[in-house]
Amino acid sequence: MSQRFVTKSAEETMEVGCQLAHSLTGGVVAFFGDLGAGKTTFVRGMCEGIGYTDEVSSPTFAIVHEYVGGKTPLYHFDMYRVESVEDLYACGFYDYLDTGILAIEWSENILDALPEDAVLVYLAYGEAEDERIIRIERRGEQ
Ligand code: ADP
Ligand code: MG
Repeated sequence: MSQRFVTKSAEETMEVGCQLAHSLTGGVVAFFGDLGAGKTTFVRGMCEGIGYTDEVSSPTFAIVHEYVGGKTPLYHFDMYRVESVEDLYACGFYDYLDTGILAIEWSENILDALPEDAVLVYLAYGEAEDERIIRIERRGEQ
């Protein structure tokens, strides 16, 4: 199944993220898109959806931020600096799988490690400054 959204503000992108989170009980959500496309903003909306209210920011240096306290834990990864399977083990990716929602920025870097049933979220700049085009694909669903 593939869905497409055009958003006109960060708040609208958060709303799409919030709705996606409502439909999930766990699993991997893999993000693709350039710097500033809205990946972290989308994850912020997902956190709202699970009822997590603390700060949400790109875990660029930490690689993973744990957001616990909502209806399900959400683990927010930034794979920008991840280059090998060893890095993936080191950041705990395999330990977190199946323990909550994994939201993964820069999934481009870990394509081979993404599970078959991962939800894929593509974000791109639109024509206007605050416009973003979001495509959500759930593999295996028609
Ligand atoms: P990324 O994590 O992909 O690098 P961020 O979510 O950190 O991107 O940053 C997106 C930036 O773009 C934020 O400053 C946000 O306010 C701004 N922005 C403007 N319009 C939108 C939109 N429609 N959706 C998401 N972010 C938007
Ligand atoms: Mg980010």
